[in-house]
Amino acid sequence: MSKAVINLFAVERTGTRNLGPGLRYAIWLQGCPFNCFNCITPQARPVVAAKIAEVESLAKDIVSNSRIDGLTISGGEPFLQAEALVSLLSMVREYRPELTVLIFTGFNLENLDSPMVRKVLEMTDVLIDGKYIDSLNDGIGLRGSSNQRIHFLSDRLTAYEEEMNKGKRSIEVSFHNKVIDIIGIPLKQKI
Ligand code: SF4
Repeated sequence: MSKAVINLFAVERTGTRNLGPGLRYAIWLQGCPFNCFNCITPQARPVVAAKIAEVESLAKDIVSNSRIDGLTISGGEPFLQAEALVSLLSMVREYRPELTVLIFTGFNLENLDSPMVRKVLEMTDVLIDGKYIDSLNDGIGLRGSSNQRIHFLSDRLTAYEEEMNKGKRSIEVSFHNKVIDIIGIPLKQKI
């Protein structure tokens, strides 16, 4: 039987403090059906094969990182790969149930209703939903624009509600092979 795979745009294995509470392993999935003006990750939008990883290997890498508090999943659009996410989150939950899961999606929660998607949501603590609207980027909180909503699907991260809704944003910027990497949610880009 072939192993389940996931199509990734990028991975932050050592963890970031800019994409949710605590230190978080972060993955960005490749492919997005939306076309938000000034999208922060336009390279992750094409629905093409990018970094194909075995779900089991990725799960092992996540659960073996003893320093992290949780996992953040962004993109691209994570729910285009709901089946792979069910496999990944099931493995993470099995071996490290204390890790919290935060997902950014361009869909609205009300429209996430297929059986596979519901399984992902059952293993998600916080969902930040809605398309990015550049004119509504107010520079506040753990979302790109004020139309996006922060849904607490479990009570495990509710202590951070105020911070996630109204806190200051922070980003890390690094430079590898002539490419600038940004981790976090930036303020509005000036064009
Ligand atoms: S949903 Fe996210 S990844 Fe997709 S176009 Fe909008 S900002 Fe970019």
